[in-house]
Amino acid sequence: MDLEKYVASIPGFPKEGIIFRDVTPMLQDAEAFKESVKQLAGFVKSEDVDVVVGPESRGFIFGCPVALELNAGFVPVRKPGKLPREVVSCKYDLEYGSNEIQMHKDSIKKGQKVFIVDDLLATGGTVEAAIKLVEEMGGEVVGLAFVIELVDLKAKEKLESQGYKVYSILQY
Ligand code: 5GP
Repeated sequence: MDLEKYVASIPGFPKEGIIFRDVTPMLQDAEAFKESVKQLAGFVKSEDVDVVVGPESRGFIFGCPVALELNAGFVPVRKPGKLPREVVSCKYDLEYGSNEIQMHKDSIKKGQKVFIVDDLLATGGTVEAAIKLVEEMGGEVVGLAFVIELVDLKAKEKLESQGYKVYSILQY
């Protein structure tokens, strides 16, 4: 199945010079959604994963069914102010300004094997921050999987040079 047909490319969104890769057509189609989840889960063995971690908000959409497929739990990564209990936080720089993500402090147990899933890998800033939080809690990151990788930004090379396994279904 050609999943690329289910990505809409929108030039100029959210600002001039950016081509936004919209994965909602992939979600709308039952077979394409199922296939994308199957491929993401297929990058790892189910016995190698205790927990799937997914960044807000499209990481929830793909991460949850991948967790079910792998018989693993799911842990959300959220923007500040959303999680009700004690959190760990990580700030990271953007081209202009900065972002911050949080996870519940007790969401990953020491030694748990963690698979991080998101819709898209761009600069890698989001996933690097998520890795930092997972490792701070004692988790072991067994892989990073994305529906889409933006290859020109070279985040995969950077993450692989740090020893992480990086997988993607589609490359742009
Ligand atoms: P990064 O932190 O790797 O630079 O950006 C990746 C994050 O931004 C992901 O959580 C992803 O959802 C979001 N993102 C950035 N650009 C796009 C895009 O073109 N399409 C989609 N669907 N998400 C994007």
